[in-house]
Amino acid sequence: MATETGTEVAGGKANGGGADTFAVDNPADGSTITQLPVDDANRVREVVARVRAAQPQWERIGNKERHRWLGHLRDWLLDNQDRIAETMQRETGKVWAEASAEVPYVADLTNFYGKKARKFIGEQRVAAHSPLMKTKKLRVRYRPYPVVGVISPWNFPLILSLGDAIPALQAGAAVVIKPSEVTPLALGEVIEAWKREVGGPDVLDVVNGAGETGTALVDEADFIQFTGSDRTAKKVLGRAAETLTPVSAELGGKDPMVVLRSADVEKAANAAAWGSFANSGQVCISVERIYVEEPIYDEFMDRLTKEVRELNQGIDGSDYGKEVGAMTFPPQTEIVESHIAEARERGARALTGGERIEREGDWYPPTVLADVDHSMRVMREESFGPVVGVMKVGDAEEAIRLANDTRYGLSASVFGRTREAERVARRLEAGTVNVNDVLVGFLASDVPMGGWKDSGIGFRHGDYGIKKFVRPESLVITRLGRKREALYFPYTAERRRLLRKAVNFVNARDWRRRLGRKPR
Ligand code: NAD
Repeated sequence: MATETGTEVAGGKANGGGADTFAVDNPADGSTITQLPVDDANRVREVVARVRAAQPQWERIGNKERHRWLGHLRDWLLDNQDRIAETMQRETGKVWAEASAEVPYVADLTNFYGKKARKFIGEQRVAAHSPLMKTKKLRVRYRPYPVVGVISPWNFPLILSLGDAIPALQAGAAVVIKPSEVTPLALGEVIEAWKREVGGPDVLDVVNGAGETGTALVDEADFIQFTGSDRTAKKVLGRAAETLTPVSAELGGKDPMVVLRSADVEKAANAAAWGSFANSGQVCISVERIYVEEPIYDEFMDRLTKEVRELNQGIDGSDYGKEVGAMTFPPQTEIVESHIAEARERGARALTGGERIEREGDWYPPTVLADVDHSMRVMREESFGPVVGVMKVGDAEEAIRLANDTRYGLSASVFGRTREAERVARRLEAGTVNVNDVLVGFLASDVPMGGWKDSGIGFRHGDYGIKKFVRPESLVITRLGRKREALYFPYTAERRRLLRKAVNFVNARDWRRRLGRKPR
């Protein structure tokens, strides 16, 4: 149904028109797991006010102490990772390998920002560049936005919520997360644990619901970290403009993979299968289009289709064994179906998959499309599902041109002899480019990750990933002052002449001007 704020939510997942609960479903079998109460604007206001009250003390305790608390949460996550993975598997339809991959990411990120926070946002001593300001002591402190609102999507319920909450908390902010209404359960358990088992300060909470709850959070928070579609991001930015609330937006992609003739074809094909179909292709940095140089095209396609046909689809448990799970969000399956249907009508061939799987729940097989071109939606719009289009290209130049022919710019990958592949990588328009690998840029939390063009505003990871949650507070401290500084009133000719002399002396770069003589 469509909510007042225009958000499409799955059948039964109602958060519009005054509904007070919404259903969370298991997409692997279509059953309803539970009903959750919708947090309305009043409730969001209450929660934000509560964490806001606790934030000053959280900021005061300092970096080290905050890391100690976040370390307790990390330990709880590590001790309870199977329980969290089970919950997440039920709400997302992920295979076990992927449902259990989120806690390790969050643990690593907690350690990374705990260790680096001082370097990235610790107080800085700055020396004045101008001799006229040398008497001043300059310091920059980085003070958090008091309350950061994190609005997250359904594809990685912990990575894309806690993954931003952790650096914000480490920076001294309080955080309220609004998870996707499709997958709020695993995160809910973690927040419950922070409160009850870890006993953490009251600076981290969650509000549940769809668009209206998100809108209320935009109204109340001091900074919004949004991850989701560009369509929703525009609404969030519009709303945030009303209160001049800054927004960092991590959005969708249409990531290209370029396979040069010098590539290790076997590695490239294995990487293409994983990059396209991990998490059923519901990854913002999924490989969605592939450009292969003509001499290796046939071998690449044979290897890719063979690899994809061997993937096991289904739901497993902690004994692993499945590679591709269910689709998480039924409306996304319809988008995937429509992209594939349109491509086939225009002459594309499905070498694997191509039709929805008829079984309980929401399932779509990994689909490799050949004979595609850039007139097709499957090569232009984000599919966000298990489909990849592959095009044969004459040379690297054609691949670069096609790879950049998109309104998105999240990430990309290039396979080939390292130096040549790196040369091509440097010409692609994307926030992250992987050379001879896929997806892994996300795990290199040392470097910024974010989108160019319609793929986002702002970056996570690296110093960007924590600096965005703070505001510089510059302290300009006068130690030795005169009763009447040179800039003060009165503006007499004598005082101004002296001032001009001093300023010219400092700014000129030749002695004649320094001494107030005419240039030759
Ligand atoms: P979405 O835009 O539909 O929803 C994202 C979040 O916004 C949800 O929590 C939703 O409830 C909330 N929301 C909806 N309407 C709102 C409103 N008016 N005001 C405030 N909040 C509102 O996205 P989705 O379908 O959950 O996720 C899929 C999209 O996310 C894809 O485009 C994908 O590429 C993108 N994504 C990007 C990244 C990244 O890091 N760049 C990562 C994962 C997913």
